[in-house]
Amino acid sequence: MTVTRTFSIIKPDATRRNLTGAVTQILEDGGLRVVASKRIQMTKEQAEGFYGVHKERPFFGELVEFMISEPVVVQVLEGENSVQRNRDLMGATNPDDADEGTIRKTHALSIGENSVHGSDSDENAAIEISYFFSDTELVG
Ligand code: ATP
Ligand code: MG
Repeated sequence: MTVTRTFSIIKPDATRRNLTGAVTQILEDGGLRVVASKRIQMTKEQAEGFYGVHKERPFFGELVEFMISEPVVVQVLEGENSVQRNRDLMGATNPDDADEGTIRKTHALSIGENSVHGSDSDENAAIEISYFFSDTELVG
């Protein structure tokens, strides 16, 4: 197993309900280490760029508006097989389909307001980390 990094966002539905700590606790208990973290207000341009792969999807406008509706917490997580580990801890996109104990089963409100984002591949993790963090912010 190799130690890798992945990218996470604690979304507005979770920051609004004061769940930054609760979500982070699940990540840490699950074996991931927060090696960078900051609370930001995403701009519309940032959100549209970040979710560019979804721009043809019917929910794109709603997704962008949601992601800029309140601050989010962007994080870099480190651990063995971190991309898959994080996605296991997050649970399915739709909280109704998520396993017990996952972040989305425990905290998400709906398929849109689903509390967290996590990278889906090592390649996208590297792209997403560099979208929000400079090298000097990744102190390990
Ligand atoms: P994420 O990319 O946020 O980690 P994911 O990989 O589980 O989540 P994607 O298919 O990449 O899911 O969708 C990106 C995000 O778009 C979802 O997390 C969710 O917030 C939103 N989304 C996806 N499907 C829908 C839908 N049918 N209706 C509303 N929002 C949706
Ligand atoms: Mg995704």
